[in-house]
Amino acid sequence: MRILINNALVVTMNERDDVIEQAAIVIDGNRLSYVGPTDRMPPGSFDRVIEASRMIAMPGMVNSHCHSPANLVRGMMPSKPLEIWRAYYRASLRDMRDEDFYASALLGGMEMLKNGATTVLDHFAGNQVGRFMGAGAAIQAMRDLGLRHVVALTITDKNYEDTIPLGETAPALTGEIKRMSAGEAKSTKAWLDECAEFIETFHAPEKLTTACPGPSAVQRCTDELLTGAAEMAAKRNLPMHVHLAETKAQAVQGQKIYGHSLLRHLESLGIVGTNLSCAHSIWLQDEDVEMFAKRGATPVHNPASNLRIGSGLAKVKEFLAAGVNVGLGTDGSASNDGQNMFDALRLAALIHNQAGTDFNQWVTPVQALAMATRNGARAFGLDAGRLAPGMLADLVLLRRETPAFTPLNDVIGQIVFCENGSDVDTVIVNGEVVVEEGRCTKVNEKEALELASKARERLDPSIQRELAAAKTLEPALAEMYFRVFGKAE
Ligand SMILES: [Zn+2]
Repeated sequence: MRILINNALVVTMNERDDVIEQAAIVIDGNRLSYVGPTDRMPPGSFDRVIEASRMIAMPGMVNSHCHSPANLVRGMMPSKPLEIWRAYYRASLRDMRDEDFYASALLGGMEMLKNGATTVLDHFAGNQVGRFMGAGAAIQAMRDLGLRHVVALTITDKNYEDTIPLGETAPALTGEIKRMSAGEAKSTKAWLDECAEFIETFHAPEKLTTACPGPSAVQRCTDELLTGAAEMAAKRNLPMHVHLAETKAQAVQGQKIYGHSLLRHLESLGIVGTNLSCAHSIWLQDEDVEMFAKRGATPVHNPASNLRIGSGLAKVKEFLAAGVNVGLGTDGSASNDGQNMFDALRLAALIHNQAGTDFNQWVTPVQALAMATRNGARAFGLDAGRLAPGMLADLVLLRRETPAFTPLNDVIGQIVFCENGSDVDTVIVNGEVVVEEGRCTKVNEKEALELASKARERLDPSIQRELAAAKTLEPALAEMYFRVFGKAE
């Protein structure tokens, strides 16, 4: 299939950040073969011509961190610190089955595609009921949508109660925390075997799937599990994804276990490299910023989630000043509460402009857009996130005759500060049109919504029961939160 996109205003996000007016984009199969002025386009015939003189073309965005099972509980989780929030969120996963993981991933993936994301990293954590925690069902949903996906299977071999700086808790609370752990941790070998089998079963770039290991968080894994996962990724030339220093409690616990920062611990194991991406990366030491730069690893910024559950402000300005490749994500809908990358993009360009800080380091629109596009692609080893010959054909056409782009003053500034996803007209992934006139082409949107609503309805009794159980943990977790910050409750 050969597609010509003609006469578009093209935001390339190439190494020079070129914006080309009156440009043509030629798609040959699943790759771009020409991006440049229409009048210099090489001759040829096309199976389809998209007239785009009223469109802006940009690379499809790369949502570099989310959890697909979270889409069924958007808007209902409390705005409380992560360790408390997590007890409630985990409760909502307990009784999910494959059909629920499918419905949740379909809903979130549809929202992403319709809002201009063409790739997602799903740090998949379901439950121990089904095979691979239910990740296979989520992969099926993303394949059905035509959304490129990197699925990092979340693995953990430590009991949760050993990974947070809990105080003396009543035995009754310990029981509930243990029950929570039992739903997650497995032996090191069992997880490594399951992860290898997961990759064997699902890794298939031609079906849009990259399957890779995703250790839950540094402090939640033994060194054996972390190095085993890293070796697995290195041997197969795959990315690896991990949560890093999302909260102060985690950094405190890391210091307690390792005697230094969580990133330095990964470094001491020899696993910080260009294929490693670290969600959040908030509570870091100054030397950690340098380590990211030196090793070419990617911190992934999740501004909405960090605000929603008060995790803190990532050192994005310092990362960018040090030349670090920073990615951008929505995080799961339980802490966001949506999957719209334009929302993440705008927040990333706004929240670091804090009074009294060096304004020369504030995030520029082009830096924010790079985080949302080419930086994420680089982290996952994908030829995407840029519109240039040879790249994968993953792109978005925005309608430009809209308030967001009128008058057209600065197209990148307006993509970042003015667009909210409502002008997305066409989305192409791997050379295939998957959104047309703002609607998904490969799935029935109404049915996808109904599927999600029905799943949520069916899960309601278990969600209510488990949320009540999670509530019993709150006093102990609240005590920990205030203690970590040196405040009395
Ligand atoms: Zn996360």
